[in-house]
Amino acid sequence: MLQSYNNNLEELTPGDALSILLDGNARFVNGITKNKNLLDRVEETGKQQKPYAAILSCMDSRAPVEILFDQGIGDVFSIRIAGNVVSENVLGSLEYAVGVSGSKLIMVMGHTNCGAIKGACDHVEFGNLTGLLDKIQPAVKSAATEGADNSSKNDSFVEEVTRLNIHNSISSIMKQSEVIRDLVAAEKIKLVGALYCVSKGTVEVLETAD
Ligand SMILES: [Zn+2]
Repeated sequence: MLQSYNNNLEELTPGDALSILLDGNARFVNGITKNKNLLDRVEETGKQQKPYAAILSCMDSRAPVEILFDQGIGDVFSIRIAGNVVSENVLGSLEYAVGVSGSKLIMVMGHTNCGAIKGACDHVEFGNLTGLLDKIQPAVKSAATEGADNSSKNDSFVEEVTRLNIHNSISSIMKQSEVIRDLVAAEKIKLVGALYCVSKGTVEVLETAD
């Protein structure tokens, strides 16, 4: 079992990259985190970074990526935006991670009890947030059933929208990024969806793009 990563990306497979993250989450959940010497990592990575994974996740304060995967400085690219939605800027960032910097894994990670998902379920309109929440609407529409409570008050509806939104983000990445599509097809990288539970601290892998 791979527990650490020593900056040698050539030796790492996409599966290894996923294992490192999941092993780190297992340490986090079990209270045995080991990435504490952050200043050592500052020294090691000051001139160069080689992050093995890029994670697109929500801005939620309860889902800090490096902490919940027990990773240190220089280990992962972290792209955080409400509702882990995809845009051209997000795609450009992900393409830099896997196409230029050599990361082996992209994870799209949503989370339980997400304010952005709940806002989209309730069709909240507020300044520029309106446009962001629009990107979650396809998931809201797919999950809605006639006659049911299709609002944020319905926990199982919210969870279904959350899962569909992760799936939709993965589909958007595959559809809109030739760079990422080619790397996935060549099995040079993996693109996976995951769900973080804000009350348990656990990460569940949902799907792998192919
Ligand atoms: Zn959220």
